[in-house]
Amino acid sequence: MNKTLNQLSGSQEFIQRHVGPDADETQKMLDYLGVSSLDELIEQTVPNKIRREEMNLPSSRSEQQALEDIGVYASENKVYRSFIGMGYYHTKTPTVILRNVLENPGWYTAYTPYQPEIAQGRLEAILTYQQMTMDLTGLDLASASLLDEATAAAEAMAMAKRVSKNKKSNQFFVDEDAFPQTIDVIKTRAAHYGFELIFGKAKDAANHDVFGAFVQYTNRYGEVIDLQEVISQLQANKAIVAVAADIMSLVMLKAPGEMGADIVLGSSQRFGVPMGFGGPHAAFFATSEKHKRAMPGRIIGVSIDSNERQAYRMAMQTREQHIRREKATSNICTAQVLLANIAAFYAVYHGPQGLKDIAHRIHRLTGILAHALQEKGLQLVNKSYFDTLTIDAGDQRDEIIARAAEAKINLRVDDNGQIGLSLDEVTTEQEVQKLYSVISGDDSGLDLVSLDEKARAHESFEKGLLREKDILTHATFNTHHSETEMLRYLKHLENKDLSLAHAMIPLGSCTMKLNSTSEMLPVTWKEFGHIHPFAPASQTMGYQKMIEELESWLAEITGYDAVTVQPNSGAQGEYAGLLAIRGYHESIGEGHRNICLIPSSAHGTNPASAQMANMKVVIVNCDDKGNIDFEDLKAKAEEVSENLSCLMVTYPSTHGVFEETIKDICSLIHEHGGQVYMDGANMNAQVGITSPGLMGSDVSHLNLHKTFAIPHGGGGPGVGPIGVKSHLKPFLPNHAVRKLQGTGENNGAVSAAPYGSAGVLPISWMYCAMLGKEGLTHSTKMALLNANYLTKRLSEYYPILFTGRNDKVAHECIVDLRPLKAETGITEVDIAKRLMDYGFHAPTMSFPVAGTLMIEPTESEPFCEIERFAEAMISIKKEIEKVASGEWEKGNNPLTNAPHTQFDLLNWNKPYSIQEGAYPVQGQQDNKFWPTVNRIDDVYGDRNLLCSCPSPEDYR
Ligand SMILES: *Cc1c(COP(=O)(O)O)cnc(C)c1O
Repeated sequence: MNKTLNQLSGSQEFIQRHVGPDADETQKMLDYLGVSSLDELIEQTVPNKIRREEMNLPSSRSEQQALEDIGVYASENKVYRSFIGMGYYHTKTPTVILRNVLENPGWYTAYTPYQPEIAQGRLEAILTYQQMTMDLTGLDLASASLLDEATAAAEAMAMAKRVSKNKKSNQFFVDEDAFPQTIDVIKTRAAHYGFELIFGKAKDAANHDVFGAFVQYTNRYGEVIDLQEVISQLQANKAIVAVAADIMSLVMLKAPGEMGADIVLGSSQRFGVPMGFGGPHAAFFATSEKHKRAMPGRIIGVSIDSNERQAYRMAMQTREQHIRREKATSNICTAQVLLANIAAFYAVYHGPQGLKDIAHRIHRLTGILAHALQEKGLQLVNKSYFDTLTIDAGDQRDEIIARAAEAKINLRVDDNGQIGLSLDEVTTEQEVQKLYSVISGDDSGLDLVSLDEKARAHESFEKGLLREKDILTHATFNTHHSETEMLRYLKHLENKDLSLAHAMIPLGSCTMKLNSTSEMLPVTWKEFGHIHPFAPASQTMGYQKMIEELESWLAEITGYDAVTVQPNSGAQGEYAGLLAIRGYHESIGEGHRNICLIPSSAHGTNPASAQMANMKVVIVNCDDKGNIDFEDLKAKAEEVSENLSCLMVTYPSTHGVFEETIKDICSLIHEHGGQVYMDGANMNAQVGITSPGLMGSDVSHLNLHKTFAIPHGGGGPGVGPIGVKSHLKPFLPNHAVRKLQGTGENNGAVSAAPYGSAGVLPISWMYCAMLGKEGLTHSTKMALLNANYLTKRLSEYYPILFTGRNDKVAHECIVDLRPLKAETGITEVDIAKRLMDYGFHAPTMSFPVAGTLMIEPTESEPFCEIERFAEAMISIKKEIEKVASGEWEKGNNPLTNAPHTQFDLLNWNKPYSIQEGAYPVQGQQDNKFWPTVNRIDDVYGDRNLLCSCPSPEDYR
């Protein structure tokens, strides 16, 4: 009653919404841990010598205030009509998909489908994406998405080297008429793989003795080139041919796979995904089945469950970084699942006929404009076209640009003075008229009908290039076309998946915290969504200011001097950071340094990225407490001193403790002339309390999709900015199309877009703005409290693998299941699947130690949910005891048969009750999350690889 006005506004504070436990619960947890305050807990947990001073950041603000503030930035972005093209197009996200997928936490808060029994919805959606990719590219194997078109092209180059039979060549051909950002990223990668690039016109590619070639169809000027002959010539010389293709044009044009291409890739952005100033967008990637082992990225495949019913899961994971490490096919971990889903749904929504209508309309409008301009005497540079025209504007160029600006239209302006434009799904007849006036300066009305007739009588590309084969014949693409159907289809898939909207997802190292609604709202505002990445800088001031501010906040948080947001995943950040280290060493005449020390416990992306940066990985041991074995590190560093490039270290360690020796570790590496790369995926344990910079590290990536509230999207998008100390700043990535300030002018790009996945940066901006310095620090403390509380609760029942000072853990803990397994035969997999029966997603399994679960509750989980999880784990322990005592049959009990499904209920044939098996918790009778399939057989799926949509008749 006697509260001040300020106190009364307390309930408006975002901090209290972001953090799970309230004050009373916090006290209860502190009491349980035997500490008097949060600060005492932190003192006991975090070594004093690495504690930081208060961060120099703005104070917390309310959700309303933050939305108003970011609204000011939004208003400083000018939403012009962009006809720039170059891989980015205006598109209409069908509103049923916008609201029910892109803006729906049921979709965007899910995790990568490592637990496929509770992820069948998005696995089916990604399989649909793969099917769409196969149909459009004309190849028989597609992956589940890569990060963007440019990195997909670079992956294609690396894959070509792996599979090419031309072993003696180190040369790779690149189409000089490909998009400049794609060429930029290929150059960056090639330099570190040691490949020599040969540039030329696509038709001349076969004049060179190369292991592979990359060409673009249709090229940056809009030309549609018949590739058949050059592909067969290249292949006759044992070269692998990769083709980048525009997804919309593929609806109408002959598939590159049909012309014999080995790899076809591109961006699926214009299938309903907003431009977002450059991303996030999913890249598609297809090849032929014979190359399946060499394919980069994830692949979804079909398998069966324990009732022999069809089920989906990630296939052939043995190619990937978390298993193969430096020998993996790529360093990709987080990809672009949410965006791939949206593109697949766009195809489902429109169906084959709808897509053809869209593509043909774009093409016809382009024909009308081409003819109108030519009749006016303007010269087209490209002789053939699908949707893109390049105009030799001569001395009228500046006038045209001025008229376009006046009309709020963006055209493509090439270095050589030519002007270009690409039409898109949104283009209207009025816009064609307007484009004509802007370019020709002639305001007289066009006779669209007669121009259309002339255009159609004329061959806009070689007849042989018209697609003849049907696309999207699968029933999925031919059923859900009314909005009611579509809504139910989306909901049907969503209901199969467990997301943060259902329960805590306690994945260690993944930080599945709250993705708040206020953080998400600005993402789909048109002022952020509808901005082309290459729009003139004067139109993107809001984005630039927002990004600059976010980068400065992240620099303050990490204790670094500069941050770039260009890398679009954590693994890409690692790569960018290692390149910065390489650049620095070269600049001081020590370019020979190429050894990367990596502790045995490291995340798989670390060695995979080191390999891509042409470094040699040397493994450092960990001691039995999970810390880096300092003596081993010392010995190895001495041994390789001369050639030591860097150490990659995760902090707090992957084992979830604050290592005491981290400062000494950093000094040791520096003494040997090496640099320290600190993997910042575990930043959630550091923000406001310590920092990588303070500990002596030189460079780190952050996972904005872990610590800074960008949702996981079911396996992407991600943002992996890197922070660096000032000596590395000149070696941060730049960009060929939009030059960035503050880094080396000629540095290459690591992503297609200058600011990477800029479209989701408002989420992290909102997160930092609303929490402010107090809230960010409080969140870290509460993450440590939740983790330590849960650890202590579980430690009475399970051994905890590693603890640090005063028996405390950092933000996560590892439960050791190996002794139980040895004693009872119950495995970590049984426990992970059994948790599904209790309504939970399993913690991280067998990383970083096989036979364990790594649990991270985050600050956002409420006390009641942490208790519910603890109770589930305790109850499972008691179940295991029943197996041990013989009360339950070995190999046929609720653990080994988990998860249980509604299908089981129909034919209950188990030696335990339905209650014990399927309803282990009180209250589940009324409301229970059901896995839709039983335990999935991984081996069967890999032996009988099927990565396309099975026909409905096959559905058992
Ligand atoms: C998640 C993670 C990464 C990789 O990040 P992605 O965005 O998935 O590429 C790297 N290191 C650690 C320790 C991680 O937990």
